[in-house]
Amino acid sequence: MPSPSNSFVYGRRPYTRELLGDGTGVQFDERGFVKVDHECRTTAAQVWAVGDVVRGPMLAHKGKEEGVMVADLIAGLVSEVNYKVIPSVIYTAPEIAWVGNTEEEVKKSGRAYKVGSFPFMASGRARAMEAPAGFAKVISAVDDDEILGVHIVGAMAGELIAEAVLAMEYSASTEDLQRTIHAHPTLSEALHEAALAADKRAIDFPNR
Ligand SMILES: Cc1cc2nc3c(=O)[nH]c(=O)nc-3n(C[C@H](O)[C@H](O)[C@H](O)COP(=O)(O)OP(=O)(O)OC[C@H]3O[C@@H](n4cnc5c(N)ncnc54)[C@H](O)[C@@H]3O)c2cc1C
Repeated sequence: MPSPSNSFVYGRRPYTRELLGDGTGVQFDERGFVKVDHECRTTAAQVWAVGDVVRGPMLAHKGKEEGVMVADLIAGLVSEVNYKVIPSVIYTAPEIAWVGNTEEEVKKSGRAYKVGSFPFMASGRARAMEAPAGFAKVISAVDDDEILGVHIVGAMAGELIAEAVLAMEYSASTEDLQRTIHAHPTLSEALHEAALAADKRAIDFPNR
């Protein structure tokens, strides 16, 4: 299939017009993305594609990990990208960071869920930093306590989200997060308290 015309545009899309000549065997979808499987194999044998040009969030760290995965796979190693736990960060002031599902997505899925949130206003460290704006929010499944999504707005949110990414990558439960000791006074306590709040066990803020 030849490269697409890219005449059907909305939102961000890869610029793949005339990227490849005819007859390569590499196929594109209707928005111009190179079609790949979950291991970034294109429809042409021995041709791989990674990064913004393939499906998934257009983020540097996503493309980087896909590149590592493809190199590993070509070298005959076992490798994968966990697309469910790719963090997103908006570098505003305060920062906005999230991983996993939004509450709207979980609601739509029909799965019973619980939510815990904790305001930075109640964080001693955030107050000492004169950065009390923001909150941490943990969305978890009721049935097995799986962490489904974490959202943080506030100072250093882009750094704080890494803990949630690691927890989700290791399939930690909300209880695992609750039982993990967080140093005081740190901003990371906000995530800890949000996890506790999901079960109405927050310590530094009233449970509602
Ligand atoms: C303004 C801006 C801010 C961003 N901020 C962030 C951020 O804060 N965090 C984040 O994670 N991501 C951010 N991104 C997205 C990030 O830059 C991309 O996800 C990432 O660069 C994708 O990497 P890539 O290798 O797939 O593509 P690219 O980095 O775009 O690399 C593609 C390369 O291919 C070259 N190329 C194109 N066509 C041809 C051709 N025909 N022949 C040979 N070479 C070609 C290009 O010149 C380019 O060097 C931002 C993007 C923009 C535009």
